[in-house]
Amino acid sequence: MIGPVRSLIRVEGIVQGVGFRPFVHALAARYGLTGLVGNDAGGVFIEAEGPAAAVGALVEAVRHRAPALAVVERVSVTPVPPTGARGFEIVPSVAGPATRALVPADVATCADCLAELFDPADRRHLYPFVNCTNCGPRFTIVTAVPYDRAVTTMAGFAMCAACEREYRDPRDRRFHAQPTCCPDCGPALSLTTAAGARVPGDPVTEAAALLAGGAVLAVKGLGGYHLAVDAADETAVATLRARKGRPDKAFAVLAADLPAVRELCEAGEAAARLLTGPRAPIVLLPRRAGAPVAPSVAPGSGELGVLLPYTPLHHLLARRLARPYVLTSGNVSDEPIVYEDADAPARLGGIADAFLSHDRPIRAPADDSVVRMFRGAALPVRRARGYAPEPFTLPWPVPRPVLACGAAQKSTFCLAGGRHAVVSQHFGDLESYRTLRAFTTEIDRWRRLFGIDPVVVAHDPHPEYLSTKYALALDGVEPVAVQHHHAHLASCLADNGEPGPVIGVAFDGTGYGADGTIWGGELLVADLAGFDRAGHLEQVRMPGGGTAIRQPWRMAAAYLHAASVPADGLGVARRNAAAWAAVSALAAAGGPAAPVTSSAGRLFDAVAALLGVRDTVTYEGQAAMGLELLADRDVGDGYPVAVTGPWPVVIRGTDLVRAVADDLRRGVRRGVVAARFHHGLAGAVAAAVRLAAEATGLGTVALSGGVFVNTVLLGGVTDRLVRDGFRVLTHRRVPCNDGGISLGQAVVAAARG
Ligand SMILES: [Zn+2]
Ligand SMILES: [Zn+2]
Repeated sequence: MIGPVRSLIRVEGIVQGVGFRPFVHALAARYGLTGLVGNDAGGVFIEAEGPAAAVGALVEAVRHRAPALAVVERVSVTPVPPTGARGFEIVPSVAGPATRALVPADVATCADCLAELFDPADRRHLYPFVNCTNCGPRFTIVTAVPYDRAVTTMAGFAMCAACEREYRDPRDRRFHAQPTCCPDCGPALSLTTAAGARVPGDPVTEAAALLAGGAVLAVKGLGGYHLAVDAADETAVATLRARKGRPDKAFAVLAADLPAVRELCEAGEAAARLLTGPRAPIVLLPRRAGAPVAPSVAPGSGELGVLLPYTPLHHLLARRLARPYVLTSGNVSDEPIVYEDADAPARLGGIADAFLSHDRPIRAPADDSVVRMFRGAALPVRRARGYAPEPFTLPWPVPRPVLACGAAQKSTFCLAGGRHAVVSQHFGDLESYRTLRAFTTEIDRWRRLFGIDPVVVAHDPHPEYLSTKYALALDGVEPVAVQHHHAHLASCLADNGEPGPVIGVAFDGTGYGADGTIWGGELLVADLAGFDRAGHLEQVRMPGGGTAIRQPWRMAAAYLHAASVPADGLGVARRNAAAWAAVSALAAAGGPAAPVTSSAGRLFDAVAALLGVRDTVTYEGQAAMGLELLADRDVGDGYPVAVTGPWPVVIRGTDLVRAVADDLRRGVRRGVVAARFHHGLAGAVAAAVRLAAEATGLGTVALSGGVFVNTVLLGGVTDRLVRDGFRVLTHRRVPCNDGGISLGQAVVAAARG
């Protein structure tokens, strides 16, 4: 008979703060093994002793049945001599340099904690801070590594004896759950008026009553303060819009549970899994006709951003109010989300009538994440709470540590070293001092948390971006400029773990071109290290420069001029008659007041204005989004578009505008015109890719840039390319918009050595 064996098993990845040690402890008990398990700087180490088959079963389980929140990246097994020692223990953590001490993301309240929350017999009944090893705050409360209670914002709350017992018991769901607490020892809620006066009574009950009465309520969440109003109360929603200075952009709506979501939206199986999963993002879904939501929640949109409660407090409020409420970031227009308690009264006092707050500090801001659904998969739009700082494992090494500073809109930064890259939460537009401060403060915290001391700093070449200026002002690092659309495509490559080369289609609004002009409809043959501009959308003038971005009707005027299509009889010219002639003349004259662009975003703007979707916009992408929602999903044919080549390939966007104008004059339904535009452009992209493929022999295509958040275009392009035999890479983990730029910059800088 063969005696017992002993194996040293090392597990790397996100294996700390996710219940890994109790999981291993339970496995050892099940398989009758002796030994030990512990944490160190590299992850989790296990020594397991017993029959070889039983040790093998444990390794198998560690590899494939790890706790839901764990990400097992590598498992190595080394035989060691058996010791004959009895029992299986959890040994103290071994400190060390914070090399791969990967901090977990915040996790939505788990089913077990939810059951306790609403169980009158439980000692945490209705306690708004219930959490366990499987759920609760993580990233937003951590100040340092290794991840331990003393380095979280729970450090000031000493555990009571009951909590301490659970925390020390390896069989308990709260074994080493750092933020664990209870009504006897943990944080407490408070409800105050905007003037700071304490509102008597139960805070949740009174807060729900305020919401039901039409008040605007500030609610302290995981990654900052939110603003809440009753989603069915038009007056309250309109009041929130006016006070927040956000005229149009849709608000998200929180519903108590999945059935409540399905009263508002069409939510399929994949969407339901995302909504109810540990990340609990906002999911953009088709709105149901007659959904009980005030018109001002998402003006002019057939979609609704919905989410489920992800903290006990959100659950309590949803249950008490018994109907959906708007939950939107607590800020004024484009400022960053408010997350510091000292800041809240001053910055939100003019918006909120009352504050539902508590005394557990938030260490870092994190907005809610946003995803769209594309053919049963999540298409990231905004990556923040629940996702950041989950690392990307790169299939190639990063020779020198990199900080990448992103672009200007939807800002993120990225740190990369070894084989990992971590992408920050979304910070919004880097235009205000406050946003820049939040951004740079977080860069410093992340450098400490992840132990990455950058030697190289990657940035956008645009000289006016604040991220560029920040990068160039850093001392002792080597700056590397990465062209905007190359960074988009590199981010798609990194997202897919591929090095290229590929034929890349990068469609967005604006990016600084290698020739100094404004790019945005680019066909690049690219790998991580470099690119060639294989083609682009036909260039047109932007009359008034940046003004044309805020006034899409100007792009209609410019495109009609470029297409030599007379404007008479078209609604867009009639509506903007006062300035039409002057703007058309500006487009005709050219010069610095009307710079050329190959931007796909501007083409969408022009067509949106032609179709009367929007003449002016209040936020980036608004016109294009309206155009997409207008497109009739039953129409599959597209306008013919000339695509000339072979190098560079040029897509004649003016053909699309001419066809749109013709159909409008013929009285074709707008939904049909919008669909034909999308499919015409998709067909043109596929034709351009075929030309680039003939020139290069490449068979893989990467699609990136913010325009590909548009699922009608994304679907149309993907289908055509697949039909033509191409492999198509799209975004799955970082947004295709500028939120993904920092990851792309980082891998480009790394590839250049
Ligand atoms: Zn839990
Ligand atoms: Zn306690």
